[in-house]
Amino acid sequence: MTAEPNASIETLMSSRPRAHIHLSSIAANWQAIDRLNPTATTAAVVKADGYGLGAAKVSRTLARAGCSTFFVAHFEEGTALRQALGFGPRIFVLNGPTGSHLRTYREADLTPVLSSEEQVELWARAPRGACALHFDTGMNRLGLSSSVLTHRRDELHRLQPVLIMSHLACGDLPDHALNRVQLDRFTEIASAFPDTPASLSASSGCYLGKAYAFDLTRPGIALYGGSTPPETVRLEPTVTLEARILSVFTAKAGETVGYAATHTLEQNTTLATVALGYADGIPRSGGNALIGYLDGTPCPVLGRISMDLITIDVSKAQAEAKSGARVEFLGAHAKLEEQAARAGTLGYELLTGLSNRVERVYP
Ligand SMILES: *Cc1c(COP(=O)(O)O)cnc(C)c1O
Repeated sequence: MTAEPNASIETLMSSRPRAHIHLSSIAANWQAIDRLNPTATTAAVVKADGYGLGAAKVSRTLARAGCSTFFVAHFEEGTALRQALGFGPRIFVLNGPTGSHLRTYREADLTPVLSSEEQVELWARAPRGACALHFDTGMNRLGLSSSVLTHRRDELHRLQPVLIMSHLACGDLPDHALNRVQLDRFTEIASAFPDTPASLSASSGCYLGKAYAFDLTRPGIALYGGSTPPETVRLEPTVTLEARILSVFTAKAGETVGYAATHTLEQNTTLATVALGYADGIPRSGGNALIGYLDGTPCPVLGRISMDLITIDVSKAQAEAKSGARVEFLGAHAKLEEQAARAGTLGYELLTGLSNRVERVYP
């Protein structure tokens, strides 16, 4: 193994991986989804800290772009978002209220999404505020059963919900029969609340056509550049994840790379070791599968992914491969869903998995 000589002290100083967050691209993606369904209001789902990209900054950017409705999962995400946005925008809390939070719901003007009979009862006894009703139309995950509508119709109407919603199980599978089933069930439920806005579609549902848009859409992952939109919809990458090369060297044919020696070199190969690993949120399942890009040149990951290190084959990028050089693991070349697929996962998991060790850099 031959060490690469000319690494300067400066390039060795900051080896922490960086995620450059392109806020203007998030706004552009929101506008692209908004244009798809011009008759519906386009909300923004910013749960899980804006899918890992920073809920406060993302939401302020989207508010400036014209978004006035936001969704988070947890109450605590809701209070933090209210602080970031100030009063005005509507903030829905998908997981609904618990007894100990009722007062803060009112003080922070958060709108709970009620998904169980317990939550309905709790909210009915609370000092009245706006709420949404979430019905399960076939996913069997979260939501009121439609039979509740039969039994407790008046009670539900007395809550004066500001939104009736449901969620598609197969929105990303356009031909799946369950989409139509859920659409029909939801249409019937929504008709019981003729004056209340209705919402069925998350990102993928926005690609299913007008019938699925109702009054409000709830895109999340599409805003961050994920999902698989039709050809006609262009989403911009919203995060460039870069890691520094720590070392460049040549390893000999017949030798192996990394823990458990899972890759055997067929020829003498120039390798680079990069300061990125599963502690940064890169899935271990991406070993021998992910691709890093050095100035746009693909450099396949060889061997297992370690906690802090990944080894890549830089044979095709010898000139650029220097200590301190930055390797792109997400971005214009390393496309989010393609990179995720290489690791057997989805853009959702890759983004929300990026750990705190990855420095977020904003424009
Ligand atoms: C997370 C979530 C969304 C957003 O989903 P994406 O697939 O990221 O667009 C919308 N609605 C509900 C109920 C959700 O839980």
